[in-house]
Amino acid sequence: MDRWKTIVEPFRIHSVEPVRMTTVAERSAALEVAGYNLFNLHADDVLIDLLTDSGTGAMSRDQWAAIQHGDESYAGSPSWFRFLESVQELFPFKHVIPTHQGRAAEKILFSVIGGPGKAIPNNTHFDTTRANVEATGAEAVDLVIPEGHDPAAIHPFKGNMDIAALDAFLTSRAGDVTVVFVTITNNSGGGQPVSLANLHAIREACDRHGVPLFLDGCRFAENAWFIKLREPGQGERSIPDIVREIASLADGMTMSAKKDGLANIGGWLAMNDDALAEQCRNLLILTEGFVTYGGLAGRDLEAIAQGLREVVDEDYLRYRIQSTAYFGEALAAAGVPLVQPFGGHAIYLDARALLPHIPPLEYPGQALAVALYREGGIRGCEIGTVMFGQHPDGSEAPAAMDLVRLAIPRRTYTQSHIDYAIEVVQYVAERAAELRGFRIVQQPSALRHFTARFDLLEGS
Ligand SMILES: *Cc1c(COP(=O)(O)O)cnc(C)c1O
Repeated sequence: MDRWKTIVEPFRIHSVEPVRMTTVAERSAALEVAGYNLFNLHADDVLIDLLTDSGTGAMSRDQWAAIQHGDESYAGSPSWFRFLESVQELFPFKHVIPTHQGRAAEKILFSVIGGPGKAIPNNTHFDTTRANVEATGAEAVDLVIPEGHDPAAIHPFKGNMDIAALDAFLTSRAGDVTVVFVTITNNSGGGQPVSLANLHAIREACDRHGVPLFLDGCRFAENAWFIKLREPGQGERSIPDIVREIASLADGMTMSAKKDGLANIGGWLAMNDDALAEQCRNLLILTEGFVTYGGLAGRDLEAIAQGLREVVDEDYLRYRIQSTAYFGEALAAAGVPLVQPFGGHAIYLDARALLPHIPPLEYPGQALAVALYREGGIRGCEIGTVMFGQHPDGSEAPAAMDLVRLAIPRRTYTQSHIDYAIEVVQYVAERAAELRGFRIVQQPSALRHFTARFDLLEGS
């Protein structure tokens, strides 16, 4: 297929979901009602929703058919056994514990192995992972390679862990580290992959220090595809084969099936350690449900079991990663500043670079995200000073970067939707000098990006 430059979606449409056209005036009114917070919009006032790729993908015909096989027996449902087989086909861990989503797996695991004085290294903790580590009193430490902090640095595996830093940390905090985590792909670092060589080196460091290694596997298939594409000697291997090698290096994992499970809900926790699994199952029963369904209905288990078979398909992964890169390349060619190289599931616009006249404490990311919605009905997500600028002591400071993430739901939008999004971003970027900053008029004491209300600052 490399002869042609047009990306062909490896599916055709079987059931359509209408999206609603709105005018600039209607969207301006919706913004006022929402206090300029895009989380407060009614989703049917959004034309193209790039807020997140989590649970927003389209399921296949075969997943909907599998749902009809959902068996809602409380214990030992056949749907559970199909789920278990599908998970263990890729991740042959001895114990698999179903949960309603990824953060429930994190909550259970860190309740057992976290606690005051403990420390958990990761390439970069995802926000719920960090929150669940810290909620137990443990410390969450990010040890991604230096390139991972630089939006402009080009590196094929920008999600890699800094092995020297990990080794030093495991030496200095010997006895405090109960697990090393590695997030594939590194979501908070821009969806950047981790190489197989780096995973082997992390494993060796863990062995030297006698510490277990767990995967945060949310985007395992996208990570495996990057390995096949970019890592020397991996080009001829099948995706399931690469995934099984990744799994063989770890002692367990947490997973959100809302990402590479191709499902709208679900997750799991898995491990080889019998005693740890027993403690986790006891907590599961307390908060999620019985050990053969976790927080899920039988039909959800079926959708995930089928999704895991589809997500490792090479036609799907080629399309997925190519279409994300297509979006990024078109914007880069138009001179829009963005984080490079492009990750698997999203592209990140550099609002601070695009809007130098808006200081970080007037929220350039918010200004850009609001403009994309007002002009084109596109909803992205500010990842910057609104999200990270508020500190527990009540003070405020600029975040490291002011980005707008445009996350791409799986199998949901067509090439022309992406072409439209490119046109809208370009239109807004050409008028960047006209955008104005915001002030916050109302906010909670933490996680303010979800509920804060804003007012537009007057132009000078
Ligand atoms: C989404 C995500 C989680 C949490 O999963 P939920 O299903 O949203 O609870 C954890 N880690 C990473 C890397 C994620 O992307």
